[in-house]
Amino acid sequence: MNREVRVRFAPSPTGPLHMGGVRTALFNYLFAKKNGGKFLLRIEDTDQTRFVPGAEEYIVESLKWCGIKIDEGATVGGEYGPYKQSERKALYKQYADQLIEAGHAYYAFDTAEELDAERKKCEQDKKTFIYNHSTRNNLNNSLVLSKEEVEKRISSGEAYVVRFKMPENEILELKDLIRGDVSFQTSLLDDKVLYKSDGMPTYHLANVVDDYLMKISHVIRGEEWLPSMPLHVLLYRTLGWTNEMPEFAHLPLILKPVGKGKLSKRDGDKLGFPVFPLEWHDPKSGDKSSGYREDGYFPEAFVNMLAFLGWNPGTEQEIFSLDELSEIFTLDRVGKSGSKFDPEKTKWYNHQYLISKSNEEVADLFKLILDEKSIDYSKFNLPHICGLVKDRAQFISELWEQTSFFFVAPEEYDAKTAKKNWKEATPALMQELVDLLKECNDFSAEVLEPIVKEWITSKEIGFGKIMNPFRLSLVGAGKGPHIFDITEIIGKEETILRIEKAIAVL
Ligand code: GLU
Repeated sequence: MNREVRVRFAPSPTGPLHMGGVRTALFNYLFAKKNGGKFLLRIEDTDQTRFVPGAEEYIVESLKWCGIKIDEGATVGGEYGPYKQSERKALYKQYADQLIEAGHAYYAFDTAEELDAERKKCEQDKKTFIYNHSTRNNLNNSLVLSKEEVEKRISSGEAYVVRFKMPENEILELKDLIRGDVSFQTSLLDDKVLYKSDGMPTYHLANVVDDYLMKISHVIRGEEWLPSMPLHVLLYRTLGWTNEMPEFAHLPLILKPVGKGKLSKRDGDKLGFPVFPLEWHDPKSGDKSSGYREDGYFPEAFVNMLAFLGWNPGTEQEIFSLDELSEIFTLDRVGKSGSKFDPEKTKWYNHQYLISKSNEEVADLFKLILDEKSIDYSKFNLPHICGLVKDRAQFISELWEQTSFFFVAPEEYDAKTAKKNWKEATPALMQELVDLLKECNDFSAEVLEPIVKEWITSKEIGFGKIMNPFRLSLVGAGKGPHIFDITEIIGKEETILRIEKAIAVL
């Protein structure tokens, strides 16, 4: 069947979007783009008790930051809207009714207390209570009660739910695009609630109805939804939509960097890295969780890293832009087993994107930090400086550490370096160096470097005896780029001042 590819990301706005959720959105998006299809964002907010203010906006903003464009959704419109389930509320009842009529679903009136009592009874017999073929005939539902009784209860306003009548003893042989053949024994499954008398569908009914009405061709979602697949497939069948049923693909889990288990929302800052794309301020507790954006990651790096959590291109290449990924992404290169999240690799990706940016781009980003620190950089060729040091940084914010000495003379000298390199003979040698530098007027690295080196050679002493204290005087430490790049940038006057200051202080 050749059908238009239409996929959806269907989060529930119950809090900030976890990076696993962003990966689900990303894989849906890549699949859509690769196949010339559409990517939809559908907000699944039928469970009003779990609604968190700001979560929906957070989801939209996260996708935007990642460069994932929404083709249809609440914020952009589309032919199959509304794209928010709370705005589609009136639409679901007819399908619950249709299922009841056809005998695939039934009304159940059991109260929470009654169900609790059933559970307890089972526990005593060391069994687990399941509302299904094994119990439903002894419970409070329309399979047992007379038609009149059911009508009376409903019209008197008694609370009810509509449950799916899970068939007994059927083996469902299904196909998942990632896991291959999967089979389910229906006798082990329960009669899930589809609809409640408050007029709200549950996730299962709303999700399937909307996928059908929105003409979704492929359901790509996290592995935690695999157990829902048999019910969803049966809903398609019993609603008469088998020919329109989407294909399913369940993505492997993202695992903690160390130890076992999946990376959860709670792991984040505790393990020293964010689990959310953007910073999140919890409206209830006021707690703040860090985000990749605010921590200084480039969205391209974050997205590139996420793509490799569960997918690989089958080659050694590791750097891919979103557009490149859109051209090569296929589900058959998504693995079955969970993939460990690696925070160090994420930093590595950031570094790769940092060094691939032009010096001008890096400088433009670095300027924001310098402005914040009120550093006057007007005299400097900032792109040139950034080019000298960007290789040593993973984040733009680290450039300050790497370059501060260009803009401000050292106030202090690293004690260890001083102890190692500033010896008794050093002040006199540094004075000689100052005298030599005073004679030079061209401070470009190509001119100055041979002059100084020749002088050192003529003195027949090791290079380190001069170059190490020279660097310490300029930088205040033993680090930094090539020394004659530094002198060229700070210039003659400043170079001499710094050496003289070091002689006086050290
Ligand atoms: N609303 C579900 C979620 O929060 C959607 C699952 C699905 O994609 O079917 O993840």
